Amino acid sequence: MDTVSAGFEDKDRYDRQRRITWVDQDAIRSSNVLVAGAGALGNEVVKNLVLAGFKRITVVDMDDIVLSNLNRCMFFTDSDVKKGMKSEIVAERASLLAPDVEIVPIVGRIQDVDIEGFDIALGCLDNILARMDLNATTCYYGIPYIDGATDGMRGKVHVILPGRPCLQCVSNRTHVKTMETRHTCTGNSSFTPHLASDVTTTAIVAAMQVRETMKIISGHPELCITNVTYYDGTLCDMFTVEADIDPTCPNHGRES
Ligand SMILES: [Zn+2]
Repeated sequence: MDTVSAGFEDKDRYDRQRRITWVDQDAIRSSNVLVAGAGALGNEVVKNLVLAGFKRITVVDMDDIVLSNLNRCMFFTDSDVKKGMKSEIVAERASLLAPDVEIVPIVGRIQDVDIEGFDIALGCLDNILARMDLNATTCYYGIPYIDGATDGMRGKVHVILPGRPCLQCVSNRTHVKTMETRHTCTGNSSFTPHLASDVTTTAIVAAMQVRETMKIISGHPELCITNVTYYDGTLCDMFTVEADIDPTCPNHGRES
């Protein structure tokens, strides 16, 4: 193991991270990352991406900031409530964490964003319709997709690589029923229920999303979660479940 000797010159911001053998810091620096959602997970994900050395980040969210966001969103303050748009505030304040970072905010729906050309997408979304849409488009373009989700003290991270099961493959009838219900009742795909949410579960799920992103961008997808890791903060338990591609899933036609 390397040691730090007296007189060590501290010139590299990422010196400690480079000591992780599989990390490719240059690849991280040059990658083009899409973050869908600038809420609780989006705040933590963008913070982790910037500190890890990602330079090119686009963050998409259609919402403004409300008071109940403030218990788990590090970039939002009381003065932003009902004034600031989530993606713009995250981009502005996360840019202060590292030099030369280029964070592009988009105020709008992820469904309306052209995702072609991104190296990876991180899902920090709180509605199933948007997640399924991003899942389908990333599958179509062969873009790795790291989906994160929380519900109170429970969370999960699903790593979707080309040739691996996607969100739709592992969706059960409850998900489908929920989508149908929301669409029928509201006619608005952006409808979002108020689920329980806390910063500790958010931080853990977001950290896992960014760590899996570092593996993929560093050229080590073999180190990634296969396929979904579930976290239960109440029990301090975490386990990973392998899944299969659903042969009826329409998102894998290009791979066969
Ligand atoms: Zn699928």
